[in-house]
Amino acid sequence: MKRVFNFSAGPAVLPEEVLKEASEEMLDYQGSGMSVMEMSHRSKYFENILNDAIADLRDVMNIPDNYKVIFVQGGASLQFAAVPMNLMKNKKADYILTGQFSTKAYKEACMFGDIKVLASSKDKNFTYIPDCSDLDVRDDADYVYICENNTIYGTKFKELPNTKGKPLVSDQSSCFLSEPVDVSKYGVIYAGVQKNVGPAGLVILIIREDLISDNFQFITPTMLKWKTQVDNNSLYNTPNSYAIYICGKVFKWIKKMGGLEQMKKRNLEKAKILYDYLDNSKLFKCNVCKKDRSMMNVCFTTNNEELDALFVNEAKNYDIVNIKGHRSVGGMRASIYNAMPIDGVKRLVEFMEKFEREHNL
Ligand SMILES: *Cc1c(COP(=O)(O)O)cnc(C)c1O
Repeated sequence: MKRVFNFSAGPAVLPEEVLKEASEEMLDYQGSGMSVMEMSHRSKYFENILNDAIADLRDVMNIPDNYKVIFVQGGASLQFAAVPMNLMKNKKADYILTGQFSTKAYKEACMFGDIKVLASSKDKNFTYIPDCSDLDVRDDADYVYICENNTIYGTKFKELPNTKGKPLVSDQSSCFLSEPVDVSKYGVIYAGVQKNVGPAGLVILIIREDLISDNFQFITPTMLKWKTQVDNNSLYNTPNSYAIYICGKVFKWIKKMGGLEQMKKRNLEKAKILYDYLDNSKLFKCNVCKKDRSMMNVCFTTNNEELDALFVNEAKNYDIVNIKGHRSVGGMRASIYNAMPIDGVKRLVEFMEKFEREHNL
C-alpha cells in the first residue's frame, strides 16, 4: 500500500490518523458489532457520535451560544437556494462576486428576489478581492453574501466586508477550520465538508438564532428549511451518518493538534513555502493579487499550456497528484488543506525546482 500527496481541491486529503481509526472501527464500532454505516441513526451509538461532533465543533470554533449548528445534505450548492429561501423577508439581498461559486449562488438567488451585485472581481478573471470597506449595501437588504475562500481562483477575503449591520452569509467551504474565525461577525457560515473536513455530500451550517424562522415568503420544502433540522438536532430524516462520524474524528484531530491557532500556523507555513518559491521562480508564476492569496488553494502557471500539461503529468512520478488547475483558469492548483503534511508541500517545491532547471533556458 502506498499513499500519494493528493493536492485535489475536493474531495480532498484527510488526516491519515483519522482514516486509520475509521478503518479499525469499520467492522465493529466500539463493540456494537457493526459499522457506523450500518447502524440506526436513532441508536445510542449514533446519538453520541452526533452530539460529540457538535460539541467538539462548538469548542474548536468557539461558537457563541446564540448560534445553532446543523448538518444537512445536498452539497454546498443546494444552499445557494436555501440561503435566500430561509433569509429573505424583503426579497432583497446583496452579493459580492469573487468567483464561480459566488456567481452560481447569485444566479440561484435571482430566482427568489431582487439581487444587487455590490462588488465583483470578474474584470480581472477573479484574481483579486474587491475593496469591501465601504459598500453601497441597501437599507432593506436581507443579507450580504460572500464566498470567503475562492477554491478555483486561489483568493481569500482577509478582511470581512462592511455589511452596514446586515447579516453576513459566508460560504466557507474551502477555508472552514483552516484558521480561527470570530463567529459573532457572521449571520450564517456554511461549508461543504469535502474540502477540508470530511466526505462529500455533507454540509455544516452555523446560524445565528434570530435568523432561524418559518419563512412564509416562499413555499419552502421542509427539507430546505433550516428550522426543520434545528428543531430536530439534524435528525429530521436519515442524515449522512458516516460523513458526520468522519467529521467528528477530524474535529477531535484538530483539537489534538492544538486547535485552530495551530492549524493557522501550519497552514501559513505551508503556503509560505510555496508562495516564496513562486515569487522567486523564473518559470512559474502566481497571478493572484498578493494580499488576497489563499492559504488553501495555490494557483500557478508557466504561462505555457504544453509545459503546464507536462508538469502535471511528470508530477505523478513524484507521487504528486491532482495538481491540475480548474478548467476555467488553466495552469496548476495545489490545494493544501489542513491534512496536507508539510512534507507534501516540500516535495512539490523540490519537483518544481527540478522541473524549472530542466525547462527554463
Ligand atoms: C466545492 C465548493 C462548493 C460546491 O460544493 P458542492 O458540495 O459540490 O455543492 C461551493 N462553494 C465552495 C467555496 C466550494 O469550494
